[in-house]
Amino acid sequence: MVFDSIAAPGHEQVSYFSDPETGLRAIIAIHDTSLGPSLGGTRILDYESEDAALTDVLRLSEAMTYKAAAADLPLGGGKAVIVGDPAEVKTEDALEAYGRAVDCLGGRYITSVDINSGAEEMDIVARETDHVVGGSDGLGNPSEVTAHGVFHGIRSCAEHVYGTDSSGDLDVVVQGLGKVGYLLAEELLEHGASVTISDVNRDAIDELTAVHDVDVVAPDSVYEQPCDVFAPCAIGGVVNDETIDQLECDIVAGSANNVLAERRHADELAARDILYAPDYVINAGGLITVGKEHLGGTYDEAYAEAEAIGDRLGEMIDRAETDDCTVLDAADAYAQERIDASETVTPALPSN
Ligand code: NAD
Repeated sequence: MVFDSIAAPGHEQVSYFSDPETGLRAIIAIHDTSLGPSLGGTRILDYESEDAALTDVLRLSEAMTYKAAAADLPLGGGKAVIVGDPAEVKTEDALEAYGRAVDCLGGRYITSVDINSGAEEMDIVARETDHVVGGSDGLGNPSEVTAHGVFHGIRSCAEHVYGTDSSGDLDVVVQGLGKVGYLLAEELLEHGASVTISDVNRDAIDELTAVHDVDVVAPDSVYEQPCDVFAPCAIGGVVNDETIDQLECDIVAGSANNVLAERRHADELAARDILYAPDYVINAGGLITVGKEHLGGTYDEAYAEAEAIGDRLGEMIDRAETDDCTVLDAADAYAQERIDASETVTPALPSN
């Protein structure tokens, strides 16, 4: 059963680690290293079952392969989960044991931050392995790079839909004013766009309205707000059977992961003539930043490289038109071609 789950999505290696002394129970999934060592965060969650943890790590590591490939990075896809209540399992001893687990993979997997793991945890992991990024001596919070990449992605979509990349003419609704949404709203405003904001947290709204002239829309009404661009920067699954008919925009492009409740919603947006920028392409700024940290470089370089997200997205939009498919299909094809064209840099299994 486990071999079947690994074989279907093409995983190279899935490793289970158990350390009874510290209580560590972790799974590291390496999906594909054709383009380089696999990189992906460590998620610490109290999964309902071991099967649920395996399903999650397989799905997330596969997604990292495509994200890295679509961002033109020399990196593969991997991910890890530490199973258990974060309040109980995040002990120093367990995280050090986890560091040794990462280390024994010899650099085929590089770990980083994710849900319930941040710079503090990565600093402990780094006591036992060099194959870690996102610690306190790293490049820092990537949200500025992510927001900048989304901004350029939006420009590229606008150029395609309206024939101009002038963000000054755009009317954008930003859903979620967290680390990314706030900075995206500011960058759009700097370029003269009209911005409408929405957040379930009143404080986040007050913070932005105190310094900028923006309109505010209630969280429940955000989908039906007429605009050029709807930029989801909060949670996943916001384009779903219920919301899709409410959308009054030409473009959906934001930082949130898993924007579509289901893949078929990409086709359904296209059928409504709404251009959808695939989430994993437009929000790659975070991966570009941790990738830069691993490969050696500065935050400023990562910030500058995030601008290329717009060009790549433009290529994918053109391809979708030529091939008569969705931009999501075109993005997958772009990533797959990079993977197929590569020579494996870190062989899955040594040959003799
Ligand atoms: P965050 O937690 O800092 O901010 C999320 C914001 O969304 C909060 O202000 C929250 O109040 C608001 N929110 C939550 N539910 C909402 C709802 N139903 N309606 C309106 N607002 C709501 O998160 P972030 O780091 O800004 O990331 C935003 C999204 O982008 C997430 O999906 C994240 O996975 C994705 N992402 C972030 C990065 C990054 O660099 N931070 C990189 C890639 C992808």
